[in-house]
This record gives sequence, C-alpha cells and structure tokens, in this order.
Amino acid sequence: MRLLIVEDDPLIADGVIRAMRTAGHAVDHTTNGEAADQALRQYPYDLVVLDLGLPKVDGIEVLRRLRARQSGVPVLVLTARDSLTDRVTGLDAGADDYLVKPFDLPELEARVRALLRRQQPNVAGRVQIGDLAVDMTGRSAYLGDRRIELSSREFGVLEVLARRAGRVVGKDQLLESLTGWDEDVGMNAIEVYVHRLRKKLEPGGVNIRTIRGLGYLLDKSGSNA
Ligand code: CA
Repeated sequence: MRLLIVEDDPLIADGVIRAMRTAGHAVDHTTNGEAADQALRQYPYDLVVLDLGLPKVDGIEVLRRLRARQSGVPVLVLTARDSLTDRVTGLDAGADDYLVKPFDLPELEARVRALLRRQQPNVAGRVQIGDLAVDMTGRSAYLGDRRIELSSREFGVLEVLARRAGRVVGKDQLLESLTGWDEDVGMNAIEVYVHRLRKKLEPGGVNIRTIRGLGYLLDKSGSNA
C-alpha cells in the first residue's frame, strides 16, 4: 500500500515513516499543507496520516479540499490539540480516525491496519486463488499449508495482484502502489519481482500472466479469464 505522511515535526515524522515502512508500505512524506495538497491531487494513495497543525495550509483545509474532490482515501488525523472542538472539526471535515499526540507507534499501526481493512471489506484479510492463500493482515502467503518465503517488495507485488485477481493490473499501477518518491524503483525491478514470484507460485498452480502492452494478471494456471 502507498501512504502519505503529512507531519512537520521531524521526530514524529521519522517514527511514523519508519513504522510504516517496516509494515511494508511505500511512504511519501510532506512537511506542509500545500505540498500535501499537491501530492494528494497527483498520486493514488491508499491512506493518509495527516497532522492538523501545519505550515502554509493547515491540515483541516487539506482534508476539506480532499473531500471536496470526492476522494474517499482514508485519513487518520494526528493532532496535539486534545479539545473536543478540534476533534469534531476534524471528523466533520472528513477524517476517518483521530489520534492525539503523544501516541504510541503500535497504536498508530493498529489504527492504520484497521482503516486499510475497512477500505477493502470485500477482500477483508485473506484472498484465496487455487492453492494460494494471501494473508493481507499478516503479510504472508501460503501454498496449501506451506508458507512462501517472500521479500517485502515481492509481497507488495503479490498483494496488489491478488486484490485484483483475474483482472489486469498495469505495470505503472504496480509501480505507483509500491513506491514512494525517494525510492528508485523502475519498471525493470517490477519485472524482476514478478519473475521471482512466478517461480515461487508455480508449484501451487497459480500463474502471473503477462498481458502484452497492458500489464499482469494473476489467476489459476490453465484458466482462460
Ligand atoms: Ca504540526
């Protein structure tokens, strides 16, 4: 999943970014509301962690503009202000959840997981394709009852393909959902991850097909979708 962290406090930002990367997400970071607003117009995020007290444009305004554009991306608001008014204003402006500073990182991680799950209720925590089971919550994959060893990136590719199993996923879509701005991952790398995944999934009768000019499609080997 690709996340945007909007936080001007370097210490807090650093902790949140590290926790989210460890959880296997691609993370972009902005330190003011204007840059956040631009990033949100430009990139397809799966979740936003948004501080309210920000330079240039404040967090509530960023949130209002986001919702005015009909974006449904989940937003977890962070704020140092613990007044009821701020909380109500944040929720009214379209926040999905609220965390008051100081907070513990495990608490933030749990809220992020819950929001991402809520966002995709139809595939909840687990996707099954033939012998392949992908556990989104535990970030692990199994062929039958044997766990497949996957790097964080390989899992990321598998996750995106599995959520859209039977449908074509564009290479650029894969790249955008896997990488943040400061990560130098190119199309070639995507091909390498797909190649490795194919080898690992083959014994389970699951195939990642290349759809020329379009992208990739994950399904059971031999099926004609
Ligand atoms: Ca702040």
